[in-house]
Amino acid sequence: MSKTFADFSLDESLQQALETLGFTTPTPVQEQSIPAAMEGKDLLVSSQTGSGKTAAFLLPTLNALAGEDTFLPFKERMKAVTQPNILVISPTRELAQQVCQDAIAFVRHMKGVRVAAIMGGMPFGKQIQQLKGAQVVVATPGRLLDLVNRRQIKLDKVDALIVDEADRMLDLGFSEDLEAISDLAANRKQTLMFSATFAPRIINLAERMMNDPQRIAIETGHSTNTDITQTLHWTDGFEHKKKLLTHWLSAEDLDQAVVFASTQEDTDMLAEELAEAGLSVVALHGAMPQTVRNRRLRSIREGRAKILVATDVAARGLDVPTISHVINFGLPMKNEDYVHRIGRTGRAGRTGKAITLATYRERGKIRALEDYLDARLEVSEIEGLEPSPPPARGGRDGGGRGRDGGGRGRGGRDGGRGGFGGGRRFEGESNFKRREGGDDRPRRSYDDKPRGDRPSFGGEDRPRREFNSDRPRREGGFGDRPQRSFDDRPKRDFGDRPRREGGFGDRPQRSFDDRPKREFNSDRPRREGGFNDKPRFNSNDDNRGNSVDYKPRREGSFGDRPKRDFGDRPAPRREGGFGDRPQRSFGDDRPKRTFGEDRPKREFNSDRPRRKFND
Ligand code: AMP
Repeated sequence: MSKTFADFSLDESLQQALETLGFTTPTPVQEQSIPAAMEGKDLLVSSQTGSGKTAAFLLPTLNALAGEDTFLPFKERMKAVTQPNILVISPTRELAQQVCQDAIAFVRHMKGVRVAAIMGGMPFGKQIQQLKGAQVVVATPGRLLDLVNRRQIKLDKVDALIVDEADRMLDLGFSEDLEAISDLAANRKQTLMFSATFAPRIINLAERMMNDPQRIAIETGHSTNTDITQTLHWTDGFEHKKKLLTHWLSAEDLDQAVVFASTQEDTDMLAEELAEAGLSVVALHGAMPQTVRNRRLRSIREGRAKILVATDVAARGLDVPTISHVINFGLPMKNEDYVHRIGRTGRAGRTGKAITLATYRERGKIRALEDYLDARLEVSEIEGLEPSPPPARGGRDGGGRGRDGGGRGRGGRDGGRGGFGGGRRFEGESNFKRREGGDDRPRRSYDDKPRGDRPSFGGEDRPRREFNSDRPRREGGFGDRPQRSFDDRPKRDFGDRPRREGGFGDRPQRSFDDRPKREFNSDRPRREGGFNDKPRFNSNDDNRGNSVDYKPRREGSFGDRPKRDFGDRPAPRREGGFGDRPQRSFGDDRPKRTFGEDRPKREFNSDRPRRKFND
């Protein structure tokens, strides 16, 4: 007989919280992890997103806290340096917020327990205020270390350290930060690490951070939630993808959808395009101020917006049960990201649909993804929106359709090159050259980049973006859209304005001059002015001048490598940070945009949340 939460002998206050939340039966990851963690073991748990892992680490650690007298009167709390008992490290702000919300729900009936989230992109003052006296802290690594440096938080009383999405943490280049946090929280009794995989680098990290951890593998391989139907559409290119996107977004069973784009730029453009088509859409990516990201996430959570267009990192951890569809407009950089992406749907026991749009030239990536998943994506075609047959080998005539109706069989070389005997040419070959190339072009999204690996904008080897007059212009589409003037259009707010009926696929082509003028509200990240007129963002990590004493947790726990002196850390800490980034030049032939006098000014006062790359 399967277990119930009552079998875990959790504190009464937690049982009450579970009742309020309507959780009765533990999920597999909870069933295995909760009792083991309650015994005080270190755990290394592989579990997929959406599996209930948050409760799996919060319930046993909060349970230990339930017996402790942690209450501090207000005055003392405000005076004292915060010394949390439970510390959860999350790779992204969104995930940290999500975990924080879950923790708040669980401690609802626990007297005197305070939960705080600390993450980059929020004003320090407010955050420090909220942090005061918190026994449970959920943090992104960079901001946590900043606050340690500012002596606003001490980790010496941490009993339980939880590393959530450890794989993602390493992807984002947080390995050193984790190490520093591990040393700072050297007195802890327990470490729990959750990761999508048990890749060797995760095992290595676990060995350095944990004592003889018990491994709990919930799902074998990289299998994904079986409540999610996964479909693949072969496409001819960008325009074809847009038509398929329109098709799917108008599906009757669509409640809410997340559309994933490969870059921040694509995210903005796609959202803009969908909004123009009258859909209720918000964009989300890592370059947006946190306040804007929060507002947009709220509008998705509260159902005010129907579609979220996002990059991988920005939508990470998003937990909205009404998301019925995930559409991969651009392929993820990493196979693991695919699993995280589609995990935005099929949540809390619901079913979901994950639709991936790929061009033939991406078939290698699709094959690699299928190998990773150890499963084939079901290829589907929509009547009237079928892809052209794949190009024949050598760019000659020939069907070359492999299995799945194209793309994978004998189909020839890179999609579209050379055409195929009078058949339809790939769009990318003609009108959408830049865009089509974009499928394979190096990613520019900071979200997707590990820290040490971000592009230098001044570097010679930076992929060239072409803004010259040869660039194909949109007629109603992305590639060949006429240049816009931002001067004196009536204001439109993407987030809240009423939506027009009808998809964008069949709307009449508009002449740009007739088009209602649009105002890009101050929420919208600026893509237009280049970097020259961009305010200088100081990376939060620049503030690490102070030295911090932290002692190594365990002898030899990180091998014999020299201990880092946290105070000597070079500032700015991250290479490629804004602080020291060379000014970006787009070349003289880039069309100039004019910004009229009456264009609303964006204010970048000192309160404005700092922009950070990763968390
Ligand atoms: P997570 O994997 O922690 O992000 O959780 C995925 C979703 O499942 C969240 O919406 C949780 O609130 C929900 N959830 C977690 N555990 C349970 C449970 N035992 N019963 C019902 N829903 C749950």
